[in-house]
Amino acid sequence: MLFGRKKRKPITIPQKKVKEWKYTTCNYCSTGCSIEIGLGEDNKIVTSRGHAGADVNRGKLCIKGILEHELFTSPGRGTEPLIRDKHFEEFEQTTWDNALDVTATKIKEIQQKYGRDAFAVVSTGQLLTEEFYTLGKLTRGCIGTNNYDGNTTLCMASAVSGYKRSFGADGPPGCYDDFEHTHCFMAFGSNLPEQHPIIYWRLKEALEKRKFPLIVVDPRVTMLAQFADIHLPITPGTDCVLINSMMHVIINEGLQDTAYIDAHTQGFDEIKALVQDYDPKVAQHECGIDEDTIRNVARLYANAPAAMSIWTMGINQSTHGSDGVANINNLNLITGNIGKPGGTSLSITGQCNAMGTREWSSCSGLPGYRYLENADDRQEIADYWGIDPEFFPKQRGMAQTDIFPAIETGEIKGMWLVATNPMTSMPNTSRIRKMLESLDFLVVQDVYRDVETNQYSHVYFPASVWSEKEGCHTNTERRVNLISKIVPCFANSKPDLWIFNQMAKRFENGKKIKFPDKAEDVFNEMKELSKGQSYGRPRNLDISGMSYEKIIKARGIQWPYRDTDEGLKGTPRLYSDGIFPTKSGKANLIPVKFFNNNEQPCNDYPFWLNSGRVVEHFHTRTRTGKIGNCNKFSPTPYMEMNPDAALALGIEHMSYVRLTSRRGDAVVMVQLTQRVAQNMVFIPFHFHDCVNRLTLGLLDPYSRQPAFKQCSVRIQPVDQAEAARLNVERRSY
Ligand code: SF4
Repeated sequence: MLFGRKKRKPITIPQKKVKEWKYTTCNYCSTGCSIEIGLGEDNKIVTSRGHAGADVNRGKLCIKGILEHELFTSPGRGTEPLIRDKHFEEFEQTTWDNALDVTATKIKEIQQKYGRDAFAVVSTGQLLTEEFYTLGKLTRGCIGTNNYDGNTTLCMASAVSGYKRSFGADGPPGCYDDFEHTHCFMAFGSNLPEQHPIIYWRLKEALEKRKFPLIVVDPRVTMLAQFADIHLPITPGTDCVLINSMMHVIINEGLQDTAYIDAHTQGFDEIKALVQDYDPKVAQHECGIDEDTIRNVARLYANAPAAMSIWTMGINQSTHGSDGVANINNLNLITGNIGKPGGTSLSITGQCNAMGTREWSSCSGLPGYRYLENADDRQEIADYWGIDPEFFPKQRGMAQTDIFPAIETGEIKGMWLVATNPMTSMPNTSRIRKMLESLDFLVVQDVYRDVETNQYSHVYFPASVWSEKEGCHTNTERRVNLISKIVPCFANSKPDLWIFNQMAKRFENGKKIKFPDKAEDVFNEMKELSKGQSYGRPRNLDISGMSYEKIIKARGIQWPYRDTDEGLKGTPRLYSDGIFPTKSGKANLIPVKFFNNNEQPCNDYPFWLNSGRVVEHFHTRTRTGKIGNCNKFSPTPYMEMNPDAALALGIEHMSYVRLTSRRGDAVVMVQLTQRVAQNMVFIPFHFHDCVNRLTLGLLDPYSRQPAFKQCSVRIQPVDQAEAARLNVERRSY
């Protein structure tokens, strides 16, 4: 890939002799690239390439996708189920039957003694959709705990919550093709070239064909900000002030789309009244963007024939993440930019199948965007599964970020973690360690035995990875694509679907509910459940027209795709008819008043701490940390620091420093760069025992997502030899 630097030679991959190419989909980020895996003469996997006929990536892959075939035999894979001895000290190998029996017995013991909700299940955005649906069946239908969530609460919960509040349902309304039609593109807290490189490539391609303004809102001069026409280096956590101020300009200058507002929204008068308090003259002092720039950007956005916004964690990971999303939706609704080509409100999802868990896992309700709070939904699912609807709780239980503190208060006694690594991913590592240590029982299900959280488990289930199994993903633009089984499961690891099915047999309702063995049979159940109506209108999350065969042929299909639909295209955009899945059919305009509850820099902790991704790694490096070239290009954590701030503290480039927050400390190597302001530092979030030793993680009141990106730290030089030793130890873990 060139990324605009056309004189540079792209990375070339040595030619390898391939006998056969097999189709699959990337299992890292939510872009949803189609991959072909090359098998050599002896049927061994030798290479991978992007699928040229797939609309998403058109033959391209980023470094993670190019090297993904190395996952199958990467170090640290779990080979056999493990169990701690009776003093819970050392792991011993055991059989699957014993590991499953012990776990089922422990779950029942805990539930009998402390109540059904005392055992929690926390999963991920990395499983296949059929596995999510089956885990939901197991957890909601058999185990019966209401404390069930996914780690998507750490990344996408605010987007889900904001979509539900604004539009009445989850589901990103836009698609990548909107880049080809937009006349103004605004990115909030999203560094596409490093987070979603192929989405960035699609944007770049659209920009090369037809110029339109690229506006980037980010406190840091990210790679995307470097390519922007206008960069707004906003004060952390003040997006709502900026957007309210933009709406102040738009409404007071009469630039809103009155016809769209009248026909398709409700609540305009409240928004109009609220934004009068956000005159750019005043707002500039809170959000750090000067008043002229606010006015210019507002006019550019509102006057564009079609304008779109994207966002990622810069909005979601905040104490007002859900409000931030609702406010981006407000901006697009009042300018008539929903459901039209190039006009949309597109949350760029994080994990490869964060959408699959949102749609089908039942984490926040029941499958197919159904609600526990709705008696008809409970009855419908209970009837379909063949159980008593009274088995379901009548409202959603705790989110992941509330489940962990509930270990401290004694409400949660046992936990099942599926493909998630809270020891690295959750804020305030030392607190998480104490919580995990105090559980009566912890079972960890993961592809890797050496995942950091497994140090605290009593039972370990070795799971199969990616194309050792079959099933679907849904990407950021609602495109359902297929992961094919290409190689046998590694050692005695098992597909997550198999593990859930075996566990179901050990519970009473598991004898009543059907748990198909084949992924395609599970998919067919989901298809059935996706049909029907909500508020008297056809459900949007309808996949009833899809089949594995059609999905492969189309290289992915976007929902809704009904059994009456012809062709293979699916639906690129939601709400094109201006009808929303609310009672009135209108979208909600939600006034967002800004309260500044961020932990802010002060005399003792004078720097903002910001965190984010690097292109080579995915989340907690569980996989990319094992892939030679990914790790070689990004082997160690580092901290970006402004050279002037470093000079004032006597800190040199490439030296180690100690960062201290109110939670803990971390030793990190310094990279001096103008990308961060003098009062801010940035650290990639992928590394264990690093940035999340420092983070606070206050929670958003609606989504319960933590504010990873707004806290404060102080910085001190440290003994260099000691720091280097610590760093080597960390890398060799
Ligand atoms: Fe995989 Fe995302 Fe890279 Fe595409 S952009 S190859 S989906 S990690």
